[in-house]
Amino acid sequence: SPAQPAAARSKVLAVVNQKGGVGKTTTAINLAAALALEGLQTLIIDCDPQANTTGGLGLGRDEERASIYDLLMGHTSIDKIIVPTDVGNLSIIPGSKNLIGANIELVGQDRREYRLRDALEPIRANYTFIILDCPPALDLLTLNSLVAADGLLVPMQAEYFALEGISELMSTLERVTQSFNPTLELEGVLLTMYDDRTNLSQQVSENLKGFFTDKLLKTSIPRNIRLAEAPSHGKPVSLYDPKSRGSEAYRELALEILSRNNVKSPEEGRRKAAA
Ligand code: ADP
Ligand code: MG
Repeated sequence: SPAQPAAARSKVLAVVNQKGGVGKTTTAINLAAALALEGLQTLIIDCDPQANTTGGLGLGRDEERASIYDLLMGHTSIDKIIVPTDVGNLSIIPGSKNLIGANIELVGQDRREYRLRDALEPIRANYTFIILDCPPALDLLTLNSLVAADGLLVPMQAEYFALEGISELMSTLERVTQSFNPTLELEGVLLTMYDDRTNLSQQVSENLKGFFTDKLLKTSIPRNIRLAEAPSHGKPVSLYDPKSRGSEAYRELALEILSRNNVKSPEEGRRKAAA
């Protein structure tokens, strides 16, 4: 098989925002799928008890199946819970609703903030990207994701209160870099559910640019019905409707993330060679 880019360690990106409904799960699924379709080995981990990423990639809510919960609790080893998906190069560690209990069950445990980081260590070299979908809270599950991550990807909905709660998120980032994970960085802020026909979306975009400068990603994700429909078919948008605006936008996002990280896309190389 063709050589993968020489990434000694994978890049772990946590998709985080303590607000619900801002597009975290949509971004985690569709970015991970787009990276995989560029030819890069990718793993997605569903860290949210709602398990929407798991369902959105076509896995049933099987309560018998081992999940990230069992891994965090030390009941299983990581190689036993990685499941392939219908997208080539994309695997998933499923979530489950018993994750709700992990916040409490982990409290008394050793290295409770490092559970996910420690568990990922033996498999990190197998993937170019590992994407973590976080719950809508700054709880111990999210903290585990921030401690395991190299970068934060923060989706923000184009609405009046987009910046609400952002100072709390940024101070959490600072606390994590001081206490647990000194190399954690803000990878980028992603504007989601963007509608370029409205003044509101344009205003929010200007505000975010002023606030985050070069951390605001150039790609924004349009509001697109295909993105909302795809999960009920158990597919990322790139398989459900590859020509849709939503699919194009997540592919553009994947290419932007690759270029920011100096990772070459094997598919881009193939496209150029064929042209
Ligand atoms: P979160 O994980 O932050 O709670 P979701 O990704 O689940 O947010 O998105 C919330 C809702 O908005 C879902 O119903 C999803 O399908 C829909 N949605 C997300 N992004 C878009 C988009 N760009 N266009 C249309 N609908 C979207
Ligand atoms: Mg979600």
